[in-house]
Amino acid sequence: MRYVSTRGSAPILPFDDVLLTGLARDGGLYVPERWPRLRAEDLAGLHGRPYADVALAVMTPFVGRTIATDRLREILVETYAGFDHAAVAPLKQLDAGSWLMELFHGPTIAFKDYALQFLGRLFDEVLAARGERLTVVGATSGDTGSAAIEACRDRQAVDIFILYPHGRTSEVQRRQMTTVAAANVHTIAVEGSFDDCQDLVKAMFNDIAYRDRMRLSAVNSINWVRIMAQIVYYVAAGIALGAPDRRLAFAVPTGNFGNIYAAYAARSMGLPVERLIVGSNRNDILDRFFRTGAMEIAAVEPSLSPSMDIQVSSNFERLLFDLFDRDGRQVADTLTRFRKSGMFAVTDNQLGHARGLFASHRLGDDETLATIGATFGQTGELVDPHTAVGLAALAANRPGDPDVACVSLACAHPAKFPEAVERATGHRPPLPDKLADLFDRPERFDVLPANLAAVQRYIAERARITATPERSAAG
Ligand SMILES: *Cc1c(COP(=O)(O)O)cnc(C)c1O
Repeated sequence: MRYVSTRGSAPILPFDDVLLTGLARDGGLYVPERWPRLRAEDLAGLHGRPYADVALAVMTPFVGRTIATDRLREILVETYAGFDHAAVAPLKQLDAGSWLMELFHGPTIAFKDYALQFLGRLFDEVLAARGERLTVVGATSGDTGSAAIEACRDRQAVDIFILYPHGRTSEVQRRQMTTVAAANVHTIAVEGSFDDCQDLVKAMFNDIAYRDRMRLSAVNSINWVRIMAQIVYYVAAGIALGAPDRRLAFAVPTGNFGNIYAAYAARSMGLPVERLIVGSNRNDILDRFFRTGAMEIAAVEPSLSPSMDIQVSSNFERLLFDLFDRDGRQVADTLTRFRKSGMFAVTDNQLGHARGLFASHRLGDDETLATIGATFGQTGELVDPHTAVGLAALAANRPGDPDVACVSLACAHPAKFPEAVERATGHRPPLPDKLADLFDRPERFDVLPANLAAVQRYIAERARITATPERSAAG
């Protein structure tokens, strides 16, 4: 499989380069040149098989010959063996025709583990084959940092540096990052805000000489491999619920549009998906788009579902590429205008096309708490605020046909957001066993000023890239 950029002018790349590159050189995002097909008999043949087998079937055409099939199977088995539920992404029935898919059985109890745990292992595999190393740098307001750290810890070819605002994350979030005892993990508490952290990371990536010398890389959801790994649980859910002979709808709490785009990819491969439902919090740019066809920026406001407090959803570009019949120039022009004016619109025809598949719903904080409470009352399930947004979006857009199996995604464990859950239900969800001693583990972090030179020096002194690249590659 080869990969093309959504903006049409970056080089066409094979899988391993797409894995290591992330963002395309023309500013676009990589997508597969064409969608491989999962035929009805392929889906039927996966009934009753373990998650890693489904993953292998989904990923093999994307990975191509970069990694031998037997080796890819080993990596997948190892990746998901570390999850704390034998089904990996179990389904819990909520009512006659709807299910909750639990995506919080990985090490940091949120769905990003499903892709990042695999991505970290794949980095090691591909980098070892090339005799190269990488330095992963990222900024976090709390949540994604821990998933990235858990993905990269103990990886031979990777060092990871995560910047977070000193004293401004929750204690659970901080401890999930600072208690990881691995020599290649570096947590930097920046004396400043999250924006300061993000500006420092951006400045490091814009310093081309530094970026090249340190072999900087990111693990955010613009990386195609994260999308690819997320396709798997949609296919697994579909198979468990009777695909190819049963149609499906998915409701997805959405921020950067990466997760729901993976559902779109599963459908493009042949999974019988009838409807995709976008759930937004008060940061509702996507809901407004699917209602009006206009994408119009507003200020980001904090909400009870912070992982969705986003205005510009970077992965939406991948859908736009298809809405524009894969015309990369048109995508590039549209998004350049968008950056200048904060707004663009698609044609009625294109909007009609999008609405043939996508529905959307917006939920404020009060309604989010009400949904958490109602879900607990009706099913006994404690759900986190992100999950509640998805559930409400499903309730508002449920297909009329009772034969369609509806799946709502539980993207984080309720114990990750205990205050909101307790406010809504009176019950404080306990951390799962594997994190029960989180508050007893020793912490390790360094405090640095919000100063580019200081942070660059800190990383240069610790990344193993400059010291002995050849030797570590050989050893
Ligand atoms: C990242 C995240 C989201 C948003 O997912 P996108 O792929 O960015 O749309 C929703 N909920 C939780 C808990 C998350 O961590």
